[in-house]
Amino acid sequence: MAKTLRTIDDLAGARLLSPSPALGEVAARYAVALTEDVLRLIDRTDPDDPIARQFLPDARELDTRPEELVDPIGDETHSPVKGVVHRYPDRVLLKPILACPVYCRFCFRREFVGPGGDALDEAELAAAIAYIASTPAIWEVIVTGGDPLMLSPRRIRALNDALAAIPHVEVVRWHSRVPIVDPGRVTEELAAALAATGKTVWLAVHCNHARELSAEATGALARLRRAGIALVSQTVLLKGVNDDAETLAGLMRKLVEHGVKPYYLHLPDLAPGTSHFRTSIAEGRAIMQALRGRLSGLAQPTLVLDIPGGYGKVPAGPAYVEDALGAGPVITDPAGNTHPYPG
Ligand SMILES: *Cc1c(COP(=O)(O)O)cnc(C)c1O
Ligand code: SF4
Repeated sequence: MAKTLRTIDDLAGARLLSPSPALGEVAARYAVALTEDVLRLIDRTDPDDPIARQFLPDARELDTRPEELVDPIGDETHSPVKGVVHRYPDRVLLKPILACPVYCRFCFRREFVGPGGDALDEAELAAAIAYIASTPAIWEVIVTGGDPLMLSPRRIRALNDALAAIPHVEVVRWHSRVPIVDPGRVTEELAAALAATGKTVWLAVHCNHARELSAEATGALARLRRAGIALVSQTVLLKGVNDDAETLAGLMRKLVEHGVKPYYLHLPDLAPGTSHFRTSIAEGRAIMQALRGRLSGLAQPTLVLDIPGGYGKVPAGPAYVEDALGAGPVITDPAGNTHPYPG
């Protein structure tokens, strides 16, 4: 397998940064990893490179704000059994592994993920599966982490076999950054293992910039599609990475060109030491408004946020229909002009 850069010295050796005590402290606090595929995407001549910004440790990560939370979306308070988060009745998150191929500097689970990140052992995985099997309301299992495509094809098949035996589970959805950051890992064998279950399989690929969709990455997406897996995307709206309409339009179009339906555009969660990535709801809405009308409906994601403290995920707007008091609905068109709507 390709080499992964994991230390400040590795990154300095690749001429990506100059070591400093502050960066050493960042790396001691939050895991660092950058794959060779990501390394190839970075433009070292650009000090504001949007790929580098996502993965290179930054001294600003030491700045933790009072509003930032160790568990920003309250996963731990909705965990009935280790490795399972059950907040919405019809679906659960299953986290079999907490390692990732890269460590994103804005990660909302950064206090939990890492190369030593606790993976479920066989008994714990069996207990998680037993919880799902004994809860008939669960229609969908969302396999996440960490990054669950770090599991071997053999372990993915074993998990799929266990899920296949649960009649009320109709859909299995995997969330992963592997097709983008380590596409060589998505072999025909791995794609077949993901698809090997009697259920309908979806994969949400996490991708934040059009430049991440290299020929290798789109090849991995094509292998997943050929295996019969439906693809959607998730993007985080990140300051200095993709927080303008043109950059996002380019990303969303490219995803659709490769058979991936843009699903969610997330406002960043209040994870510790990530304030330099934060975008506001107002900025998110303005960008969405700019995309409406100029970008195919197929390429439109939904802007969402997770309410801090674990109250759930909701669309964040913008709203196009408003009820003016006593005067009936008023509709805003893509150009920003308003119109009354009869009825
Ligand atoms: C985000 C999330 C889901 C999935 O939500 P969808 O809107 O179906 O994508 C499920 N469970 C938890 C706990 C979540 O945070
Ligand atoms: S791949 Fe996902 S879980 Fe892993 S560090 Fe990045 S954002 Fe966090």
